[in-house]
Amino acid sequence: MHYLSFLIFFLAGIYTVWDSLQRGRSHISSLLWGMGVTFLFFVFFPLHLATRPKLSKKSTIDVTDDIEVACPKCHHYYKPNANFCPNCGWHIKGDE
Ligand SMILES: [Zn+2]
Repeated sequence: MHYLSFLIFFLAGIYTVWDSLQRGRSHISSLLWGMGVTFLFFVFFPLHLATRPKLSKKSTIDVTDDIEVACPKCHHYYKPNANFCPNCGWHIKGDE
């Protein structure tokens, strides 16, 4: 194998690791994808492009964090990640 083509595959592997991390894949999964692209570029690079998760903007996540949900008991608004209603103490998540 030519050194130059290996260098290109290696850089593509690094790009794949970075791209996977940006798109929310786990560290181990991203490293495996990067190794796959480095050693089997023509198999894993098109596969990575086809299966990679969509890029999620952080601003979108911040917006959903600000959305508040009404308590089913007292209709007081609370954050969606809360376990108990701050107004009446109603157990929002889990078993009744
Ligand atoms: Zn409540």
